[in-house]
Amino acid sequence: MTSKAPVNQHPSTQEASPVRVRIAPSPTGDPHVGTAYIGLLNYIYARQRSGQFILRIEDTDRTRFVPTSEQMIFDSLRWVGLTWDEGPDVGGPYGPYRQSERTEIYREHAEMLLANGHAYRSFETAEELEAMRQQQIAAKVPPRYNGAHRHLTQAQIDAYLAEGRPYTVRLKVPENQSTTFTDELRGPITFDHNNVDDQVLLKSDGYPTYHLANVVDDHLMRITDVIRAEEWISSTPKHVLLYAAFGWELPRFWHMPLLRNTDKSKISKRKNPVSLVFYQQSGYLPQAMLNFLGLLGGGMAQPTEQEIVSKGLNTKEGDIFSLAEMLEKFDFRRISLGGPVFDLVKLKWLNGEYLRKLTPEEFFTALRSTILSDSYIRAIAPLVQSRMEILGQFGDMTGFFFADNILPPESVWLPKKRTFEESLAFIAEQLTALEAAAWEAEAIESSLKTLGEAKQWSVKENFMLLRAILTGSTSSPPLVESMIVFGKARTLDRLRRFLDVQKKQANQRK
Ligand code: GLU
Repeated sequence: MTSKAPVNQHPSTQEASPVRVRIAPSPTGDPHVGTAYIGLLNYIYARQRSGQFILRIEDTDRTRFVPTSEQMIFDSLRWVGLTWDEGPDVGGPYGPYRQSERTEIYREHAEMLLANGHAYRSFETAEELEAMRQQQIAAKVPPRYNGAHRHLTQAQIDAYLAEGRPYTVRLKVPENQSTTFTDELRGPITFDHNNVDDQVLLKSDGYPTYHLANVVDDHLMRITDVIRAEEWISSTPKHVLLYAAFGWELPRFWHMPLLRNTDKSKISKRKNPVSLVFYQQSGYLPQAMLNFLGLLGGGMAQPTEQEIVSKGLNTKEGDIFSLAEMLEKFDFRRISLGGPVFDLVKLKWLNGEYLRKLTPEEFFTALRSTILSDSYIRAIAPLVQSRMEILGQFGDMTGFFFADNILPPESVWLPKKRTFEESLAFIAEQLTALEAAAWEAEAIESSLKTLGEAKQWSVKENFMLLRAILTGSTSSPPLVESMIVFGKARTLDRLRRFLDVQKKQANQRK
């Protein structure tokens, strides 16, 4: 038997307190298009209600932390045209806005839950937890913490503490109850507590988990509406229980449909470029990107038949709108839960529409601020200076830096002593190695060499293959330096596109 636990959630109809929303990206790599998508939705929601939009950096997972990532998040969100009212770089009354600067706050809150009986210390070692997991897997039950240390006596706890045993703090999920919260797009969602693990709140290194830090911050930062991607919906029961354990009022939850690849799988870098940096460097216009992201949730009303006729629109033109129009017309209740497709063909089409609207002067400025910027040409020039006889050869040697598509024929890229299949397999592995590499010469070289040694490809063969794919030719400016100037996002995209095209062609030949 389960009984119902009470919850106290912001009513969805009347908004008692001023609206405050946030995005909370983690600085774990290149800024993701999904962050801009959710950022835009939060921004619109706040602006439509004269509320505040907050940017918080969730950087407590130190194993995945990438130092350059935070600045890239700020830059690329500003590039698409978003601004925030509070955040690490702009300050605000509820800071600090970087979780790594708030660890003391989380520890105090974990202590509060230990004191009020809603959390407990769990002293198992990593090995003991792993053994527990293995036993459960063997017994074919879903792996979870078995709750053993829920019931330690005070004497046992004191003894472990005196020993200096490390511990985690876990949420004591009330048993045999169920809780219902409302998702604004889906309606009431009920979950059985017995299906919720006793979640770790504080790790043994004193750092909070995502769940604790996220809930504590949303509360202390007075967030009224949590508008985030659908992938977090499975965490929401844990959050709802945490709010209850603290005795806090729940925010409203809006879980936005996940972006999808054209094959409907969850958007992934295997199938789409997902880095905002890629779009910026490849010459997408920020206003086109923002328009595209605004289209995705389906919150913009499509033009009526009458408008189409009276304004002579073709329906595709109904897809073109500015940020100001989104602020006016975007309706959160229209959002459809079917996964919006991140369709590059559509984005390119939109971008073309925006390009054509630019005045010649604006078009020139757009070129000069992206693919023909001083800084880009300045970085390329030293790579070819010593190889040229006349300046007119610059284009011959550097065309691949300015091209979108480089597809060399097999006679250029396929190494003489290798088969098509083994070469493609090797490139796919190189792609994975490069994805993980820091984008500087030593790291790139060493990851390529390590892979080459492991797979018995000589450095020469290995670099030649990559050179042909990336530059379209077997002679080029120095490869690794060129890759650095071309940028990680675009280099990886070029390799991915090459693999896609080759695989498609091979399938057609079958
Ligand atoms: N840090 C999470 C992320 O990276 C935040 C999710 C949320 O909005 O609660 O997206």
